Amino acid sequence: MSKMPVVFVGHGSPMNAIEDNEYSRTWKAISNRIPRPELIISISAHWFTKGTKIMNEEKLKTIYDMYGFPKELYEIVYDSPGSPAFAKLAKELISKETEYDNSWGIDHGTWSVLVHMFPKRDIPVFQISIDAYAPAEVHYKIGQELKSLRKQGVLILGTGNVVHNLRLVDWHMGSKGFDWAYEFDDYIYDNIINKNYDNILKYNEMSSAAKHAVPTPDHFYPLLYVLGASDKKDKVSVFNKSCELGSLTMTGYIWEE
Ligand code: ZN
Repeated sequence: MSKMPVVFVGHGSPMNAIEDNEYSRTWKAISNRIPRPELIISISAHWFTKGTKIMNEEKLKTIYDMYGFPKELYEIVYDSPGSPAFAKLAKELISKETEYDNSWGIDHGTWSVLVHMFPKRDIPVFQISIDAYAPAEVHYKIGQELKSLRKQGVLILGTGNVVHNLRLVDWHMGSKGFDWAYEFDDYIYDNIINKNYDNILKYNEMSSAAKHAVPTPDHFYPLLYVLGASDKKDKVSVFNKSCELGSLTMTGYIWEE
């Protein structure tokens, strides 16, 4: 079996779930290009918890963890099966203490992207939460520990945004970003391309733009799981590298064997 790529997606607005735009078209194109996964493990910005949780039910619910959007979005059901067996395997691979938790479901960080990438909903999927209290290195390490699953056909998907500051969103900016948004997005890009992952883990000390770009780490940390699961020998490509509304970047990355 060929080794699955690892993917980080900048998901942006939940509206991308129902829009045919350059972002959603790129997500679709990627899924058409890569081998079909046996399973998807999604690390979503929106399951940000105390401790690390893993979903392990056969049937997972769809969660509508956003407010004030059109009715159409609340009618989306992403009902791929779960996978208790792979959830158990993931739990065993992660050295940090984890627990099964099925109080959450497939959230919009995951389904807004997967409805484009895998619209048939026939590939098992589950989420692993992001421990809000763990430092950057811990998230990276979990990614490293899950890396071996790639050889079993598992697609490890991180879904967040490299730059995400909702408080500073400026609708007049349209598809432009503030200087600090480009600066931080480029900082991450350069360090991914040059494989200086330490600079990414120490983003807070190394980049003065980080305080605006990553006011809270929920949307940034999914990238660290994917980085951990990547291999230095993989070929990395960037997609959707752009800013929106001043303070969001949509930049995504894929690492392939
Ligand atoms: Zn989000």
